[in-house]
Amino acid sequence: MQKNDIVKVVIEDIGTGGEGIGKVDGYTLFIKDAVIGDIVEAKIIKAKKNYGYARLMNILVPSECRVKPVCPQARRCGGCQIQEMAYERQLRFKEEKVRGNLMRIGEVPEEVLSSIMEPIVGMEEPFHYRNKAQFPVGTDREGNLVTGFYAGRTHSIIPNTDCVLGVEVNERILKILLAFMKEYGISAYCEETHRGLVRHILIRYGFSTQEIMVSFIVNGDTLPHSDELVKRLAALDGMTSITLNINKKRTNVIMGDVVRTLWGRSYITDYIGNIEYQISPLSFYQVNPVQTERLYELALSYAGLTGEEIVWDLYCGIGTISLFLAQRAKKVYGVEIVPQAIEDAKNNARINGIENVRFYVGKAEEILPEYYRKYEEKHGGEKAHADVIVVDPPRKGCDEALLQTIADMQPDRIVYVSCDSATLARDVKFLRRCGYELMKGRAVDMFPQTVSVETVVMLSHKTEVQCIS
Ligand code: SAH
Repeated sequence: MQKNDIVKVVIEDIGTGGEGIGKVDGYTLFIKDAVIGDIVEAKIIKAKKNYGYARLMNILVPSECRVKPVCPQARRCGGCQIQEMAYERQLRFKEEKVRGNLMRIGEVPEEVLSSIMEPIVGMEEPFHYRNKAQFPVGTDREGNLVTGFYAGRTHSIIPNTDCVLGVEVNERILKILLAFMKEYGISAYCEETHRGLVRHILIRYGFSTQEIMVSFIVNGDTLPHSDELVKRLAALDGMTSITLNINKKRTNVIMGDVVRTLWGRSYITDYIGNIEYQISPLSFYQVNPVQTERLYELALSYAGLTGEEIVWDLYCGIGTISLFLAQRAKKVYGVEIVPQAIEDAKNNARINGIENVRFYVGKAEEILPEYYRKYEEKHGGEKAHADVIVVDPPRKGCDEALLQTIADMQPDRIVYVSCDSATLARDVKFLRRCGYELMKGRAVDMFPQTVSVETVVMLSHKTEVQCIS
């Protein structure tokens, strides 16, 4: 196989990035936008010794799992990877990915998985689920102002005001912004030259409150004629917060540190279950509130709380899981590395009148081991006790020092919420060696049309064995 060869390929598998995988004379090809079951014509763009990458040229026989993408930009945009795959097939792909990782990396026996894994939690309506959108603002080749999305792995903007993952009001807001900028001659920011004013627009929508937040990220201290823009936006139903975010740095980090309120409040509110959250432009908040509630309900049920338990919620963010659990626990300790998130967590506890929580700022792998060590020193060798430990780490998973302390503390149950089933599997392997067994597990589809999948598992200790690591 050589570059530019045109080949006919039967797509037999799906790669981790959602691409189709097929073989030609034993040579493996990865083909973006090809769907499992398709027979395609593809052009080789990169040929390595044992495998290569090819570009989809023609779909000769479409797969039964192939659907027409709802968004005309689906292939060019970096946001969705598997919009052309039927939703049912997307769910099966995600379930198999989690299961495969737990088996191969986690070394969990197949019989265990077959008996404990529950079916994936999908969405009834797998579009328009995102409560947050960040659109870059720029100019196209002809010099017209555009908003849109970055093409996959690049920083060139594909014009689009109607992303099918976002809420419908986004489009109206984007059109108001573009018309305003045109009328008043306001420039868009250009990454190469670091000139121009408007960099991004952030829109957040409270699904249960219908409150809308708009924040303009600008390369300057003010937005000229903002009164006129505010007047037009404030007329929209539900508009609650309009802010300016100052970001004058030459960086691809979207938000700056300074927020100025132009109109209304500096935050919006929303609910997950019966807990109210205040969300400011810089706050972290889960982007799919419908599935988040299901995920937390699952974590709560796996935690098996009766009201008497001591619970740790590690990597707690703005305290979402902590507050959810606190309603049914004696005491919850949350740990999070970002100080601003802990400020939000404390505020959220206060507005909900929840008092049995305590939050710590720091690394989970430092805070918990230190707590454990100090407790033993202070209490004459008695060990710190936790009934349930919940972890929800970023993609890289948990540090071994943390897993070791968790195992030493011997909680009855460990609930692991994961956004990367490969690192989840690695950590499950460690905990199984420490005498914990996988008792329950379920994937939740938080990001339909993309390859991401969340997983919740519960481990419980089967024996009193000490960790042999
Ligand atoms: N449980 C929260 C957030 C989970 S996202 C929720 O459901 O909303 C993971 C969080 O871990 C992020 O808030 C991130 O800032 C935090 N984090 C990353 N590394 C960390 C570490 N070493 N110790 C503690 N928190 C960390």
